Amino acid sequence: MAPTPGRRRLVSLVVPLHNETDNVDAFFGAITPILRGLHALDYEIVCVNDGSTDDTLDKLVAWSVADRHVRVVDLSRNFGKEAALTAGIDEARGDAVIPFDADLQDPPDVIPCLVQRWLEGFDVVLAIRARRDADTWLKRCTATLFYRCYNAISDTPIPDNAGDFRLMSRQVVDALRELPENRRFMKGLFAWVGFRTTYVEYVRCARVGGRSKFSCWRLWNFALEGLTSFGTLPLRVWTYAGGIAACSALVLSGYFLLRTLIQGVDVPGYASIITAVLFLGGLQLVGIGVIGEYVGRIYTEAKRRPIYIVRKVYGARSA
Ligand code: UDP
Ligand code: MG
Repeated sequence: MAPTPGRRRLVSLVVPLHNETDNVDAFFGAITPILRGLHALDYEIVCVNDGSTDDTLDKLVAWSVADRHVRVVDLSRNFGKEAALTAGIDEARGDAVIPFDADLQDPPDVIPCLVQRWLEGFDVVLAIRARRDADTWLKRCTATLFYRCYNAISDTPIPDNAGDFRLMSRQVVDALRELPENRRFMKGLFAWVGFRTTYVEYVRCARVGGRSKFSCWRLWNFALEGLTSFGTLPLRVWTYAGGIAACSALVLSGYFLLRTLIQGVDVPGYASIITAVLFLGGLQLVGIGVIGEYVGRIYTEAKRRPIYIVRKVYGARSA
């Protein structure tokens, strides 16, 4: 989008925070010099307090009083990172918007590189993790597996090792905000809107302080969310699985019939019956589970509840 004449272009950093009290000061300490160094560009930092139960909010409000570039959106409870990010993106006024984690796992000095590529004319600049040394072996393996499965079933692939850290132009952000769904798998939505995309590589560091909010169980649910958000293959695959199982059962019954006719009745066939019953029963249960996932999604979407609720916004609008 062309900037209004006479106005410096604005870059918005959107930061979701949930119980990040250990990181708030380190975050501003690291990020502010980098954003100040973006010559000829103005900046704002939109922090979203996602229902923190520690004193994250107090610290953020203190920063918003001290620095006119900082604005704080306080949500009414913990809505989860995706909703917090959505709240921040809705609040951001920038010509370019960059989602950024408060734990400084993504190095702030990549931001000028993202901005540079945007100024060269790209709409989306992805920050791709060149290495994930800071993550555990298990997390790396499960992440790779997830990206493989996701890309196999989705029409809009997400690049391997791209997180939420990226730059999006205003046009991309407006397109993103048009998407009406309630349950938002942001990485998928980002990929779905498209636009001219390039990428910058970086190495992801360990957290500065505090602990990751994503336990194994939460990551598993996140992966299910992603897979069911962007593909219907898990629904359709049961038609084929059921078809194959039914055909095999038919062939097998033909074989048993022939054998009985030729050789007479031997042992009453308990083993083959129980195997078939268990196999088909298991298959049906998995199928019902998959349908349940989608029905659950339809149910929550049908309620049309807001994605998040803002309790209060602190700090002045800088643009
Ligand atoms: N976060 C959030 N709401 C949540 C969980 C996390 O706003 O319910 C924020 C968190 O404060 C951090 C970012 O999302 O700024 C990424 O979370 P985290 O570092 O725990 O995720 P990981 O890097 O382990 O994937
Ligand atoms: Mg993190």
